[in-house]
Amino acid sequence: MSRKTRNIIIILLLAVLVSWGVLRTADLRGSAVSDVQMISYNQELVMAETADDYRTTYEIFVGSFSDSDGDGIGDLNGIRNKLDYIADTGFDQIWLTPIFPSDTYHKYDAKDYFSIDPAFGTMEDFEALVEACHERGIRVLLDLPLNHTSSAYPWFVQASECLQTTAVENAGNCPYMPFYHFSREAQDGYAPLGESGWYYEARFWSEMPDLNLDDPGVRNEIFYVLAYWLDHGADGFRLDAVTSYYTGNPEANREFLRWLKETCTSLDPDSYLVGEAWTDRKSIAALYESGIDSLFDFPFGNVDGIIYRVITGDVTAAAYVKGLELYEDTYTQANPDYIDAPFYTNHDMARSAGYYAADDGPKIKMAYALNLFMSGNAFVYYGEEIGMKGSGKDENKRQPMFWGDDDPAVCEPPAGSDEVEMKFPLLAEQMQDDLSIYRWFKEVIRVRRSFPAIARGRTEADETLCSDTIAAFRRTGEGLSPVLIVMNLSASAEDVAVAGDLPEPAAVLNTSTEAITLKSSILHMPGYSIAVFALEE
Ligand code: CA
Repeated sequence: MSRKTRNIIIILLLAVLVSWGVLRTADLRGSAVSDVQMISYNQELVMAETADDYRTTYEIFVGSFSDSDGDGIGDLNGIRNKLDYIADTGFDQIWLTPIFPSDTYHKYDAKDYFSIDPAFGTMEDFEALVEACHERGIRVLLDLPLNHTSSAYPWFVQASECLQTTAVENAGNCPYMPFYHFSREAQDGYAPLGESGWYYEARFWSEMPDLNLDDPGVRNEIFYVLAYWLDHGADGFRLDAVTSYYTGNPEANREFLRWLKETCTSLDPDSYLVGEAWTDRKSIAALYESGIDSLFDFPFGNVDGIIYRVITGDVTAAAYVKGLELYEDTYTQANPDYIDAPFYTNHDMARSAGYYAADDGPKIKMAYALNLFMSGNAFVYYGEEIGMKGSGKDENKRQPMFWGDDDPAVCEPPAGSDEVEMKFPLLAEQMQDDLSIYRWFKEVIRVRRSFPAIARGRTEADETLCSDTIAAFRRTGEGLSPVLIVMNLSASAEDVAVAGDLPEPAAVLNTSTEAITLKSSILHMPGYSIAVFALEE
């Protein structure tokens, strides 16, 4: 072989190697090649394993989520079948709407606190679900409606049957009579007990009699309910309608929450409680004095809440950040260990995909980023991560999870619901689209969980960067690496002059193919985009 031939061969060989290397690089980047900056930019982020109560929680309306046995009703095994999806989306806690036997589809009126509705499964199914969740680092919260039972609860059935057949002077001998509020007088919030001349408290509905939570027998039963489910692996409870425990008596509600929290802690020091108090900031703060871990932050949710008003421009970005500080301060004063429970929608609210006329995604996405960038334990209602629709009657807000036409997990809609037309594509399609609602959710949760200060730190406005449309704040706290979060809450791009020593963003979130850039102390923020900076401690 001549030297020339050998050189040609070597050159060819090198060319092959180089091109192979280039190809390899291209292959490796293949999965990350996207016109959407965040897809590749955030790839190195590592979500922290969560050991505390600062979670990202998925609310599952059990009957509508995932069917495992073909009867059209979502069930516990169906949820277990979808755990990889739940974990992959980034959730590390689930809240199951009530699983107790009940004659309604929503099951907020229990007939027995110590068993599971047969349509949902068995205790074995529950334990298998809990085990599968814990294997994935997912905790399980059960929904406890303690304000009332079903009128078919044996306690109420025995008490009311006895009262209807017993002389008034002997009524005190009726079993379980003290468990409810029976009266000979018609009162506001009371329903008549047949033709017996008796009335009973039933604030929500005649078939949901209110429990007498002061009765020692009721407290004793609740103690066993809490112990029973914690023993079977539940990690905590979502407490239904806590402002209704003692109607119009916030002090009594607070003391009952204190009793519940202390009881749970005595049974399991790691157990977690979040309460539903559909009320304002100051009333929520007053309930935090009970020592309960969390209360849903209702002022931020729903179609008339703070998040909605920020997205529609009714509240400026700067005012929003000051609002975050105000809420955190108010709650901290009530209980410095409180953990906020921000959410945007739940099973009682219209789904957010219908909130913004003519929006093809960016506003829904930013609204959810505001929710998921709040500190605390953030809650997301199933289906919101794919922009499901549903409004009007309650059944419409609880439509079957939109898995896809061919997925046997798809449930039947609740009886009486309207035909709800979805706005965005099926999950499988959204998974392939880097600009889908789902892809955004997954990326936002990934960022939330990769920077522990986002969920655990306190908000500090960056007054120099905040404007009508730019929300800028630090999250800081003991033992936390501080972050600076900059959000463009408007549809148009903005150039923000930042400090000269600001590092490149540690994470970005985009709702378009336009990239966030930082050049010569000018942070270019496309419409509806977010940049997260890791700051020096
Ligand atoms: Ca089923």
